[in-house]
Amino acid sequence: MIVAIDGPAAAGKGTLARRLAAALGYVYLDTGALYRAVAKSVLDAGGDPNDAGEAAAHAQALDPAALEAPGLRSEEVGDAASRVAALPAVRSALLAFQRRVAETPPGAVLDGRDTGTVICPEAELKLFVTAGLEERARRRLQELRSRGETHMLPQVLAEVAERDSRDRARQAAPLRPAEDAVEIDTTGMTPDAVFQRAFLLANERLAELERGSGPDGQ
Ligand code: C5P
Repeated sequence: MIVAIDGPAAAGKGTLARRLAAALGYVYLDTGALYRAVAKSVLDAGGDPNDAGEAAAHAQALDPAALEAPGLRSEEVGDAASRVAALPAVRSALLAFQRRVAETPPGAVLDGRDTGTVICPEAELKLFVTAGLEERARRRLQELRSRGETHMLPQVLAEVAERDSRDRARQAAPLRPAEDAVEIDTTGMTPDAVFQRAFLLANERLAELERGSGPDGQ
C-alpha cells in the first residue's frame, strides 16, 4: 500500500509519516528533503535558487546521500527549497526517483506537498495534514531551537506563511488536498493522537484492500 501524506509546512507530517512507516514496516520518503537537498546544493555552489537552468542541473545530479546532509532543515534552506520547488524542470527531475521509492514492497509512506496529487495519484491512502498557522509556527520555532538556532516567533510565523502561500500559488504541483484525501487538522492534538488516528485509517484501508473493496465498501 502507498500512503501519501501532504500538507503545509510544520503541520506534523514528517513525525507522523516516519512513525506510520515504522509501524506498518514500510519504507519512508521525506520528499521535502529532495527539494531541500537541491536548494542546498545550489546555495553551496553560490547559485540562485530562482534560476531554472541552474536548479534543474543540480536536481538532475542529485545524489541520494545528499538527503542525509547536515543543515538541510534550516530556514534558509527551507526558503530556497520552496523556490526551486516552483520550477517544473526541478520537479520533473525528481519525479522518477519518488515513484520508484513509492513502489517498494510491501509499501511506502511519502510526505510532501504533491505526493497524493502528482507523485502517487493511485495511492491507496491519502492524508492531508494541517494545523493553524500560529501552532505550526510555534512547532517550527521549537524544532529550530532544539537544534540551537535562535529565532523569534513573529519572524518564523512570517516565513512559514510566505512559504505556504508560495507553495499554494505556484503553477507546478501546487499544495492542495487530493479529492480523495482524508483531512486531519492537528491543531491541539498530540503527536500520539495524530498517529493513532492515521494508524486506524491505514488499518481500515488495509482491511478494505484485503476484502477487495473501495473506501466506501464498493
Ligand atoms: O516539507 P519541507 O518543509 O521539508 O519542504 C520544503 C519545501 O519543499 C516546501 O516548502 C515545498 O516548497 C517543497 N516541496 C514540494 N513538494 C513536495 C515536498 C516539498 O514542493 N512534495
